[in-house]
Amino acid sequence: MRRKLVVGNWKMHGNHRANAELLAGITAARPFACDVAVCVPFPYLSETAVALASTDVRWGAQDCSVHEQGAYTGEVSAPMLSEFGCRYVIVGHSERRAYHGEGDQVVADKAKAALARGITPIVCVGETLAQREAGETEAVVKRQLSAVIHALGPCVGEMVVAYEPVWAIGTGRTATPEQAQAVHHTLRQQLRAATPRADDMALLYGGSVKPDNASILFAQADIDGGLIGGAALKAADFVAICRAA
Ligand code: 13P
Repeated sequence: MRRKLVVGNWKMHGNHRANAELLAGITAARPFACDVAVCVPFPYLSETAVALASTDVRWGAQDCSVHEQGAYTGEVSAPMLSEFGCRYVIVGHSERRAYHGEGDQVVADKAKAALARGITPIVCVGETLAQREAGETEAVVKRQLSAVIHALGPCVGEMVVAYEPVWAIGTGRTATPEQAQAVHHTLRQQLRAATPRADDMALLYGGSVKPDNASILFAQADIDGGLIGGAALKAADFVAICRAA
């Protein structure tokens, strides 16, 4: 049995006071039966590390550079994230693919840069509504995952994969458990062809996961937890989702 993992992606939300309340709400609800993490904006990594240091709640970032250091204004490197105790970094989120033009190769290079510093990349894949309606879902997610598989080589088994259909993100329109499971199964098969560790890897679902739909999603054979956006900003909702895992 794979252990479930629930990760909150705070996106560009938060302030000192709200973060402290949210983290206090999460830590007060321990213990959880699953692994729990929050991926916070860069400026809040330090206070998050302090708040969570003596707990089993993990933390991470939402992006990292492909470079280790240099003249890359505005970028943050994996070695820097490592100094703040990041366990995870999200790479290839659809918002970064869409708004920052990140392609499959850049996403793969970011995953590699993270792993080189011992940070587990949470690699996001997912199709747009137009791609789903054109019957391209499987081809799209396989292409996205394939680039990462090639870049990571023998380390493939160390990443976490998150399937996030773009049309389900922030829309309140969740993939049905059957739709999500079908894609997760495809991804698991692709991973099985790449690594003997595929059956130990966490494949997360993301896209309008809420307390009332989390249990049924997490009950699917190849869904090992969730990457949570909006519902990760309220302690009660996030905790309820963690309890569902
Ligand atoms: P929502 O849960 O707000 O739909 O966001 C999902 C997501 O993008 C997590 O990375």
